Amino acid sequence: MGEATNRVRSTKSASTDPYNVPFDDTGILKVDETPGWEVLKLKAEPVTEFDAEFKEMALSMVPRMYRAHGCGLAAPQVGISKRFLIYDAGNGPTVVVNPVITKERGEQFEPSEGCLSLPRIKARIRRPNVISVKAQDINGNELFIRATELEARILCHEIDHLDGILITDRASGEDIRIITGDDDEDDF
Ligand SMILES: [Zn+2]
Repeated sequence: MGEATNRVRSTKSASTDPYNVPFDDTGILKVDETPGWEVLKLKAEPVTEFDAEFKEMALSMVPRMYRAHGCGLAAPQVGISKRFLIYDAGNGPTVVVNPVITKERGEQFEPSEGCLSLPRIKARIRRPNVISVKAQDINGNELFIRATELEARILCHEIDHLDGILITDRASGEDIRIITGDDDEDDF
């Protein structure tokens, strides 16, 4: 998921707009643009090995997420069809492995969501307002997260990526907005 830092971003020049970050820089797959993007439509496989290779791979996603000005990044978005994600809802980066939403409560419909893999789309999506997530951390230890509001929205969005679900699968009609050209529309 992109866009927690929208207000910061809109003050920057076009040359630093994360939407213009080239593929080679972040390696984030863009739907219909980057060869191999179809991995984004697959249900990802559980992580079973918490070895050095896995840890390196997971940690390498952190700078990519920040360079793209995202607040969440799921492994399929960098071409890895495995069930893990990273996110930062304001308290630093967290690696979340094999997550399962065990409880959800309430609902939220705003703000619209952006996605680093669909850089020109904003979608209004109904999400639970509070979720409990059972997962593992980068070492394979049990990890429990109780998330609300934006953090819950980010986690729902990234967990959707692990199931091959994109924001365009969750929203339609007037709940999808296409951003064209130099967007002053960067307003969510
Ligand atoms: Zn996304």
